[in-house]
Amino acid sequence: MEKHARIYVAGHRGMVGSALVRKLQAEGYENLLLRTSSELDLRNQAAVAAFFADERPEYVFLAAAKVGGILANNTYRAEFLYDNLMIESNIIHSAYETGVKKLLFLGSSCIYPKMAPQPLKEEYLLSGYLEATNEPYAIAKITGIKLCEAYRSQYGCNFISAMPTNLYGPNDNYDLNGSHVLPALIRKFHEAKVNDQPTVEVWGTGSPRREFLHADDLADACFYLMQHYNGELFVNIGTGEDVTIKELAEIVKATVGFDGELRWNTEKPDGTPRKLMDVSRLHAMGWKHTTDLKDGIEHTYQDFLANEVLYVE
Ligand code: GDP
Repeated sequence: MEKHARIYVAGHRGMVGSALVRKLQAEGYENLLLRTSSELDLRNQAAVAAFFADERPEYVFLAAAKVGGILANNTYRAEFLYDNLMIESNIIHSAYETGVKKLLFLGSSCIYPKMAPQPLKEEYLLSGYLEATNEPYAIAKITGIKLCEAYRSQYGCNFISAMPTNLYGPNDNYDLNGSHVLPALIRKFHEAKVNDQPTVEVWGTGSPRREFLHADDLADACFYLMQHYNGELFVNIGTGEDVTIKELAEIVKATVGFDGELRWNTEKPDGTPRKLMDVSRLHAMGWKHTTDLKDGIEHTYQDFLANEVLYVE
């Protein structure tokens, strides 16, 4: 990517998109095309086509998506499927029509079958049934991968895909009904500490295992792939290490400094038992994460404290 290139970061106000913008700006890219969802509704085919025709981006980072934690995915099943299918179809097709040089599509580790062997290798895609709680989101993300592959195969487009593991960092979603576990725990422990509550409710049994990657590491990996990778097969992005939800809760509890008890609510779903990425292809390409989980959580808690009024309405 040339320094003056016109680069469209779709979803720049989200956790991933904002990390990509920070990374690109730090690398000296100034010609960034950014649109909020009220300026450009990515579900609207005509609006997206007009935006690409007028602005002619040369590179696209497709980080726009309707995202959320286990409860949101399971509740708003139609929106997770429809919104994500529309966003990715509109952007990928317009990128093809206007001759975008390269596009990076971002998916998720939930594309893998629920009972796939661990760690998850890229080749396990579509080898079994999906986890029920996030099946609509996963189907949309699998479709995004297949769109990139198909536009590459039929039209010769250089569209690549990356599948990040669970992410955390600045600009995360702290709404307790919509968020993922890590921001939810930061908020719950913080509020319990401030309000002197004796217990915090945590969902499920605590035994599922999850891998967590800091959003700045993800942005770094995406930038690396945009510079160095032109293959058809999507690439896993993660740390290759996971923890139980119980272990995660203990780390967040210690970081926040809450000294009460955890209460496990097993009425809430556990979701998939484990989804650890096999990151050997990414490592072989020469990229590895740098943020350790404890340091990343400390940094994220400081960001939460600095922006609490914005994050918690
Ligand atoms: P998932 O990775 O798609 O399952 O999504 P989540 O990040 O929402 O949930 C991961 C795991 O953390 C699940 O086993 C949840 O039940 C568990 N968990 C524990 N407490 C919470 C919480 O307060 N919020 C969320 N979202 N998950 C929680």
